[in-house]
Amino acid sequence: MDLHTVTAWRDADPGLGLAPGETWLAGGTWLFSEPQPDVSGLVDLTALGWPAWEQDASVLRVAATCTIAELVERAEASGLRALEVARPCAESLVMSTKIWGAATVGGNVCLALPAGAMTSLMAGLGATAVVRGPHGERREPVADLVRDVRETSLAPGEVLRALELDIAVLRRPAAFRRFALTDMGRSGGVVVGRRDEVGLVVTVTGATRAPRVLRVDPADPADPSAAVAAIADWYDDPHGAPDWRAAQVARCVTEIVEELS
Ligand SMILES: Cc1cc2nc3c(=O)[nH]c(=O)nc-3n(C[C@H](O)[C@H](O)[C@H](O)COP(=O)(O)OP(=O)(O)OC[C@H]3O[C@@H](n4cnc5c(N)ncnc54)[C@H](O)[C@@H]3O)c2cc1C
Repeated sequence: MDLHTVTAWRDADPGLGLAPGETWLAGGTWLFSEPQPDVSGLVDLTALGWPAWEQDASVLRVAATCTIAELVERAEASGLRALEVARPCAESLVMSTKIWGAATVGGNVCLALPAGAMTSLMAGLGATAVVRGPHGERREPVADLVRDVRETSLAPGEVLRALELDIAVLRRPAAFRRFALTDMGRSGGVVVGRRDEVGLVVTVTGATRAPRVLRVDPADPADPSAAVAAIADWYDDPHGAPDWRAAQVARCVTEIVEELS
């Protein structure tokens, strides 16, 4: 799409400053897909050359500018068990090959759509968002950074730099469930389960306005249902009615608890 209000494009500088009217550009798959009347300048984050994938003994750091295609490729080569859910999460995005190759992990999270598949993956595996802004660097769980439909905790000028994952969590198995009204249609919901040092955590996305993180006790059969019943913000759009989404999530959570117990 021709963004007729945009008159300037520049590479991001390491200081990460934004002038009035400027906005961050990553893969551009959403920015160039519809008019952006409030935007007069684009600031290209990919020019900073952040390493896509940095891993040490305890932490995996995925750059916000890592493309979804590269994430899936590296996840599958990593041998980390929980990252087996990376491909099904990525494939739950309804997108073309062109979007698959250009869209970034950070762009997907920052857009904060309920069907944000990288939000499903990162929130589901308990990732921490590393955020840089005019006042320095801060960290926040991805599940908290995404607050509502198209709403994040990012303040003006802040940028998502990276997503950090605990290697100990990634070495354990994770589980994935997705449901949709049609086989090729947009997700009605995506549910990801993981094990941490305390127990079992199940994260609901797509069916709710923002990620909902449930800590469940596999020893208590009533617990998964009670955890789902406590969710209040079921998403309502043409891809699923709230009561249908709630019923599907309850099924998925029960299945995941069985699978990971
Ligand atoms: C046909 C089609 C289908 C799509 N299907 C889906 C779908 O199923 N689910 C879904 O979630 N999305 C979907 N999208 C939207 C979009 O393509 C994806 O969300 C994509 O992952 C966005 O990533 P990007 O790198 O292209 O972001 P961009 O378009 O470059 O940016 C998206 C937004 O995030 C901001 N941003 C980007 N990176 C950062 C950063 N590091 N820090 C702060 N802000 C940042 C930008 O300023 C912009 O506001 C679809 C788009 C199209 C055209």
